[in-house]
Amino acid sequence: MIDPPLAVLAELTHRCPLQCPYCSNPVELERSKTELSTAEWIRVMREIADVGALQVHLSGGEPMARPDLDQIVAAARDAGLYSNLITSAVLLTEERMERLAGAGLDHVQISFQDSEPARADRIAGYRGALAKKKRAAEAVRMCGLPLTVNLVVHRQNLTTLEDLLTMAVDLLPQRIEVAHVQYYGWAIRNRAALMPTPEQVRSALETVERARERLRGRVTIDHVVPDYYGRRPKACMGGWGRRFLNITPSGKVLPCHAAESLPGMVFETVRERTIGEIWRDSPAFDAFRGTSWMPEPCRSCERREIDWGGCRCQALAITGDAAAADPVCDKSPDHVTLTSFTNQALAEGAPDLVYRRYGARAG
Ligand code: SF4
Ligand code: SF4
Repeated sequence: MIDPPLAVLAELTHRCPLQCPYCSNPVELERSKTELSTAEWIRVMREIADVGALQVHLSGGEPMARPDLDQIVAAARDAGLYSNLITSAVLLTEERMERLAGAGLDHVQISFQDSEPARADRIAGYRGALAKKKRAAEAVRMCGLPLTVNLVVHRQNLTTLEDLLTMAVDLLPQRIEVAHVQYYGWAIRNRAALMPTPEQVRSALETVERARERLRGRVTIDHVVPDYYGRRPKACMGGWGRRFLNITPSGKVLPCHAAESLPGMVFETVRERTIGEIWRDSPAFDAFRGTSWMPEPCRSCERREIDWGGCRCQALAITGDAAAADPVCDKSPDHVTLTSFTNQALAEGAPDLVYRRYGARAG
């Protein structure tokens, strides 16, 4: 008997007006003409509820690029799902925010690149991004919706983490996430430019701890040590096929955001089978579900049902074997490879950023 997922990440489109070098979406994006239609997304919201999930995260790309977002939100509400909009917010005007709230949206998460306009524009590859995001955060507040501020941090902005936190607190969110860049998809190209130094990672831990003390009872701050500096992996997606699933813009159902990087896997789509059928009975979800697929050192490890062996995509990217222990783990024979990647990235200095340019890839 397979438990239902808790939440679903619905990537409504890969289109996005920003050009973040740390974007974790795949290098090859899905084109707009392959995206699910409004009617298909409305059906998918019902299927998400039918499989037993409670929450849907509406993401992208930039989900605001879908003119039918209000209808999709309303369908989520009708299906009884808690809906969270994950957005860069540069398209989130007061008027659109009111429409989304009216359609039944429950929560908004806005990502920020920096607290200083020129630096924020430089990372986003978008002029005026910071001012638009701040206006959007105010619009969320005026509609009475809870807000999460997502601060994306890396070597080029970690020295200003105090300023980032001050800016975030001023936006009156319920939650702040200090999110270190994860090196999947496009972001791998910018690993050398974005990899934090050990001193920055130590300093970030102290800065966040001080802020938590100062802001106790006012705002929750989430922060975890970035993967490349960890000793034990995170339970990626809460374990493969255990808690979450992703739906791509064209309707492919994936066990995780980056799963398409794994060779030889076939991902079924919501155009072929229901989400419930795919969740319960598909080769891709069965491939790394549970513990029976694990080789050593995970097979006999006491943490195998805590972190579920970590991330399959990271294992593949670093070791070439998707079934290996996540090399973040210092029990993995490949942990030294991860350390050497970190050292190499730091030794390369800060090469020019390679921007994610959607217009050139999707359309
Ligand atoms: S370019 Fe930036 S805002 Fe757009 S999808 Fe990628 S990370 Fe998100
Ligand atoms: S050996 Fe495997 S299960 Fe054990 S801590 Fe490391 S990654 Fe997790």
